[in-house]
Amino acid sequence: MFGWLKRGATRDRVAIDTALWSRATAPWPFMRGFTPDEEARLRALCERFIAAKQFSGTHGLAVTDVMQVEIAAQACVLVLELGDAWYDGWREIIVYPSQFMPEREIVDEAGVVHLTRDAMAGEAWLGGPVILSYEDVALSADEATRVAGYNVVIHEFAHKLDMRNGDANGSPPLHAAMSAAAWKRAFSEAYDDFCARVDAADRLPGARAQAALDALPLDPYASESAGEFFAVSSEAFFETPELLAPAYPAVYEQLRLFYRQDPLARINTGDRP
Ligand SMILES: [Zn+2]
Repeated sequence: MFGWLKRGATRDRVAIDTALWSRATAPWPFMRGFTPDEEARLRALCERFIAAKQFSGTHGLAVTDVMQVEIAAQACVLVLELGDAWYDGWREIIVYPSQFMPEREIVDEAGVVHLTRDAMAGEAWLGGPVILSYEDVALSADEATRVAGYNVVIHEFAHKLDMRNGDANGSPPLHAAMSAAAWKRAFSEAYDDFCARVDAADRLPGARAQAALDALPLDPYASESAGEFFAVSSEAFFETPELLAPAYPAVYEQLRLFYRQDPLARINTGDRP
């Protein structure tokens, strides 16, 4: 099963042939529209990424070559113009067949410890693994089931970039030419506005509340925290820039400077349906 990918492997990279590359990347709309140069660099990044990381499946799931390239390619889109050193310092990618329910102890304000089990599509640990539900990875590739702007791989790997300077708090290390004040202003204004819109939607009765939440430019989960707002905005930046840019232009601009990419221009080339 793993022979295909490992053939031609060196210590620093594994070879991904064209058939495997096409099969693993074609289903994702946001992966279309790259120039030949960008696509060649993305593929080379993936070849190094797969050599550097350790993929492991749980509950009997065998992480196939295609699955590895699917995950690697989406993760590497984020660092296409940053370099793979942004993913240094950790090694493991754990893939569950579907959503998982880790047991967690939460201490409330009264000091009472609660054991929680919430279903999760993905997790990123500071200095540790990225954990993904493959069912959720595949969900965003399927035309019939995909929810535009929902991408668990982009989400968790955006947290990994954010964690380059500590907790996932929505403030990743910025490039020298960027302004920390401009970043903070763009994100805090958008976050406050978004949380107010989610609160307003939640106050509506039943079906109208859901309709109002569905009409938001981002997944309501973005209102959880500044860290989640950055991760969800990153999903939208790459998957649905046509929704993010008009809703929160300053956030789009900061993400364009951070990722050094302009997905809105990419989809406007006409290469993408
Ligand atoms: Zn998250």
